[in-house]
Amino acid sequence: MKQFAEQFKAIVGDKNVITSKAEMAPYGIDRTTLWQPNPSLVVRPDSIEQVQQIVLLANQHNIPLVPSGGRTGLSGGAVAKDGEVVVTLERMKRILHYSAPDQTVTCEAGVITQHLQQFAEQQGLFYPVDFASSGSSHIGGNVATNAGGIRVLRYGGTREQVLGLKVVTGNGDILDLNRGLVKNNCGPDLRHLFIGSEGILGFICEVTVRLQPPPPPQSVMVVSARAITDLLEVFQCSRKTVTLSAFEFIAQQAMDAVTAHTGQHSPFKNTSTTPAPCYGLLEFDTPNKANTITDFFAQCQQQGWIDDAVISQSERQSKELWQLRENVSESLSPHKPLKHDVAVRMEKLPEFIARMEVKLAEEFPQLQSVWFGHLGDGNIHLNVLKPEGWSEQRFGELATEVSGLVYRLVWEMGGSISAEHGVGLLKQRILGRQVAGTEVKHWLAARNSFDAHSVMNRGKVI
Ligand SMILES: Cc1cc2nc3c(=O)[nH]c(=O)nc-3n(C[C@H](O)[C@H](O)[C@H](O)COP(=O)(O)OP(=O)(O)OC[C@H]3O[C@@H](n4cnc5c(N)ncnc54)[C@H](O)[C@@H]3O)c2cc1C
Repeated sequence: MKQFAEQFKAIVGDKNVITSKAEMAPYGIDRTTLWQPNPSLVVRPDSIEQVQQIVLLANQHNIPLVPSGGRTGLSGGAVAKDGEVVVTLERMKRILHYSAPDQTVTCEAGVITQHLQQFAEQQGLFYPVDFASSGSSHIGGNVATNAGGIRVLRYGGTREQVLGLKVVTGNGDILDLNRGLVKNNCGPDLRHLFIGSEGILGFICEVTVRLQPPPPPQSVMVVSARAITDLLEVFQCSRKTVTLSAFEFIAQQAMDAVTAHTGQHSPFKNTSTTPAPCYGLLEFDTPNKANTITDFFAQCQQQGWIDDAVISQSERQSKELWQLRENVSESLSPHKPLKHDVAVRMEKLPEFIARMEVKLAEEFPQLQSVWFGHLGDGNIHLNVLKPEGWSEQRFGELATEVSGLVYRLVWEMGGSISAEHGVGLLKQRILGRQVAGTEVKHWLAARNSFDAHSVMNRGKVI
């Protein structure tokens, strides 16, 4: 691929084609760190027209391209391990248009998610998609993965925010999809094919999202419970009592990992009931009536669903409580966890967790599993930890069997093996078990239509 460096330089300028191995390495991986980075070149376009020229060149010479956002992905989607050319949209980070009457913002794909949130705030509005990696991920990467996060329960995921997309297809066509309209029933809406397509159909270059009115003041409550089934009761009860923005779940082992890794203290004093097997984190509009929360707490305690609870008294305390949840993923990373990002319908969640725990204990008693996730939308992150003293290789040899066990139960219970992280390289081989062959046939037809020579993210997803 290096022979094409001069042609790429002619498109984006000399200094925007990276050729040194050391400088390219970070562009060839995401947060999975399971594969060795091996890009041939890294190209940094500055406009949609430059992206189009890159794609046309790639088609001419059969050059495989990997779209690259903030590389916070957890499925290997942005990995370049086979000498591909990485195309990073990091220079395309301009806010292009804000429309006050529409309450929408149009920006380039390389805008960092947190910057979009801050921009919304400056307009007195709110961009609700949020998660622990928002400080690094790009809006283009969020659209490509249909990122979810902590407030899906109230606002939906990325898909629900997107009103328009400008894309360059794998064939090099520029499509202006839906143009920021709220209503537009002119035939099939291709925008939705690109959302969640993980870079296999083309480059997302510009995004128009709707902004929300800012939520009223929020309260954060953490409750300790003896079983996840009890937390689900709390969830149902809280839905009827307050306006929920988030309902998250942290198992005790996850809480322990956070307190050990970050030095943060558990919000609960050590009593006979804490540490507890699990914790729920609720965020909701602070109720107008002072006794709403005390009545809610009393009801949950009377029913035996919770043992204890803490509620934030200030914004600083809310942030500290949220950190207990947001730091779980990073705190577990030293244990090299085998991650599973699964979803089942809420009505099946208690059964799924109970059966999964029994199966894991029976078949892999030597492994410790840690549960956490977005309980309020049925999305659970099940991390199985590498035992102390085991080499990565020894642990890796069990990975297929362990994940097989998890995914078989997910399938049996009608769930999803990728709730929000996408398929990428990680789940590409088993996707066929999740999605019916007839459906995949239509995906392939779509891919063929947008990217006839498969230059886009070859070998990923399908
Ligand atoms: C600590 C931590 C917590 C996380 N929590 C969550 C969470 O709660 N919810 C959640 O959904 N995810 C979560 N993630 C995963 C990740 O942050 C999201 O998937 C995010 O949307 C990825 O965005 P990115 O810009 O980093 O994309 P990348 O990792 O760069 O790319 C992801 C995929 O999108 C493609 N892509 C990137 N940009 C474009 C583009 N412009 N056009 C076409 N294709 C493109 C890539 O090729 C790749 O297939 C978490 C990750 C970490 C590390």
